[in-house]
Amino acid sequence: MTGKTMFITGASSGIGAATARAAVEAGWNVGLFARNADRITEMAEELGATALALPGDVAQLEQQQEALGRLSDRFGGVDAAFANAGTGLDVPGTENGDPEAWHRLVHTNILGVLYTAKAALPHLKPRKGHMLMTGSAAGRRTIAGSVYGASKWFVHGYGGNLAEEMAEWGGRCTIIAPGMVNTAFFDAEKPDKIQPEDIAEAVLYAVSTSDKASVREVFVMPK
Ligand code: NAP
Repeated sequence: MTGKTMFITGASSGIGAATARAAVEAGWNVGLFARNADRITEMAEELGATALALPGDVAQLEQQQEALGRLSDRFGGVDAAFANAGTGLDVPGTENGDPEAWHRLVHTNILGVLYTAKAALPHLKPRKGHMLMTGSAAGRRTIAGSVYGASKWFVHGYGGNLAEEMAEWGGRCTIIAPGMVNTAFFDAEKPDKIQPEDIAEAVLYAVSTSDKASVREVFVMPK
């Protein structure tokens, strides 16, 4: 049992939900942050006393700050924060793309990640804690017209820079970079692709190395 505490955004589904379950299994306390209050409340009831439901929108800095404050009060501090919430686009490309949808994407995939880090750092610093964020295989290569992919290029660039900033006080930052994962991100089931539990394992690996090692990126592709 670690007795440590992890804040997870996008915890109501897919990678975030699987990570919350695996973290509790490994002895972590978890803060479940997502907009679907019913879903995370149900999950917290299922996971027990080491899980706290924290409804909110990543695009609202104050909601993340308040949630991290509540989590810290409940468990005595926060050791790790996983900026995982993210969204895709129905219509790819610039020519046909929908500027309203880009607005939502930028507020979730870019500002949402920045806000998680901004809200979490005051809690992580005293514990030399760990920031994690979900990038993507789509943030490591060019894909014709992918505005979504470009938002993940931000995550990869920012995550590396934040790792350097956090290293100044002994903190660590890891980018989790999955290829296609079988989650509600897609309309159809993807049984042959990576399962969310595989990505949860990658997160737990990154936070459980010796304090001499800083895992900067875990890149996981379907076999
Ligand atoms: P998912 O099952 O659709 O989960 C997305 C999660 O993000 C949900 O919990 C959703 O919760 C949350 N979310 C979305 N917008 C939010 C907002 N404004 N505020 C708070 N929470 C928000 O998909 P997933 O595959 O697990 O996605 C998790 C991350 O992995 C995303 O960043 C995605 O880009 C990335 N990723 C996915 C794949 C893949 O193939 N699936 C590959 C690479 C990277 P609520 O709706 O309840 O708010």
